[in-house]
Amino acid sequence: MFVAKMDQTRICTLDLPTEALRTLRQQHEFVCPCCHERVTLKIGRKKRPHFAHRSKTCTGTFSEGETVAHAEGKAQLYAFFQQKGLHVQLEPYLEPLQQRPDLLVEQYAVEFQCSAISSEHLYRRTAGYKQAGYVPIWIPYARHKRAGWQLVSLNQLEQQCLQYDCLPYCMAFSPEEGAFIYYNYCMQMSATMFYTYIERVNPTVQHFPFYVPKAISYEAFLQLCDVQQRMRQRSLLQRLRFSKDGVQDTILRVAYTYYGSIVNVPHYVGIYVPHAFSLPMAPIDWQLYYVVWQQQYQYCLIEQEHHFCTFSSLPPLTDQQREAVRCYAAIVEAVTRKNVPLFSAMYDKIVAHHAQN
Ligand SMILES: [Zn+2]
Repeated sequence: MFVAKMDQTRICTLDLPTEALRTLRQQHEFVCPCCHERVTLKIGRKKRPHFAHRSKTCTGTFSEGETVAHAEGKAQLYAFFQQKGLHVQLEPYLEPLQQRPDLLVEQYAVEFQCSAISSEHLYRRTAGYKQAGYVPIWIPYARHKRAGWQLVSLNQLEQQCLQYDCLPYCMAFSPEEGAFIYYNYCMQMSATMFYTYIERVNPTVQHFPFYVPKAISYEAFLQLCDVQQRMRQRSLLQRLRFSKDGVQDTILRVAYTYYGSIVNVPHYVGIYVPHAFSLPMAPIDWQLYYVVWQQQYQYCLIEQEHHFCTFSSLPPLTDQQREAVRCYAAIVEAVTRKNVPLFSAMYDKIVAHHAQN
C-alpha cells in the first residue's frame, strides 16, 4: 500500500521523492491507517516505494497480497487524476462504510480491479458506495490490448462493467501500456465471447468524466451483423450435428415441426439484441419460441407477456430480459410486416432508437 499514518498525518509515498522518503524513514515511525499496526516503508528498485505490514494480519479490508499490476495501475490512475487537476485521494479509508476504494475522486469511488471478484461482492460494494453518496466506477485490468476488431472473451467482472450505450462498451486500464483500453461496440456472440473494437486511449487525451465512445456507424454495424450471422450459422449446424439429446432437444423438435430443420429457421431467429443473453436459454431458443408463438397466436407481447413465458417455459421476465424480448419483437415486426431488411431493422431498433433516447 502507498498510504500510512505518520504522527497522525496521512502520508502517501506517491507524493514524495525517494530521497525525502529515505529521510522520513530515518526519523519517523509509520502505522497502518486501518489496523494501526506498525508498517515498514520499503524503498527498492523494482517496486515503487510502499508500506508493508510486519505481520500478515491486517484487520482492514486491504490485502497485502496486492499484485504489482494492481499497485502500478493505482499509482498511474492517481497521477492521471492529479494531472487533470482533480482532488484525488489514494486508498482513503471510509470509516462509516468500512471500505477502502483504490481512489476517491471527488464523489467518485474508483476501483481498479485486477482479480476476479464475485458478483455478490461487486454488488455489495457498489451498493455500499451508492448508499454513502459515492458514484462507484469499476475499471477492470485490461487483459486484451491489441487494437482493432476481434473476438475476445469477457469474464464476469468485465461483463458487469459493460455500459449500455447503444452497443455496450467497457473501459479497462493497462498499467503495462500506461493507457486506458476500450472494448467498444461489444456484440455478444456466446455466453463469454464478444466481437469488439479495441481502442487505446492515452491518459493525455483521456478526460474525466471518462470519454464515451461515439455511436457505431451504419457501415460498421452491418459488418458486425455479418460476423454475427456467420457465427449463428455455424452454431446452428453444430447444434444439429452434436446434439446429445437428439430428438429430446425441444428446440430441434420445435424447429423440425415448423421449419423441417433447425438450419431452416427464419434468418431473424438467433440475432443479436442487447441483453439477449440475460434470458435463461440461448438467444436462438427464446427467439424461435417467440416467432412460433407469434405465428400461432398473433398476440401482442406487451399485453400477453405472461402467455409467451408460459409457452416458452420461461420464468417471469426481469426488466433486462423484457427489454431484450421487446426489442426483438419490434425487429421481427419490422421484418415480417413491413418488409424492412433485417440489418436495417436491427440498426433502427438497436442503434438509432438508442440515440434518440
Ligand atoms: Zn493494517
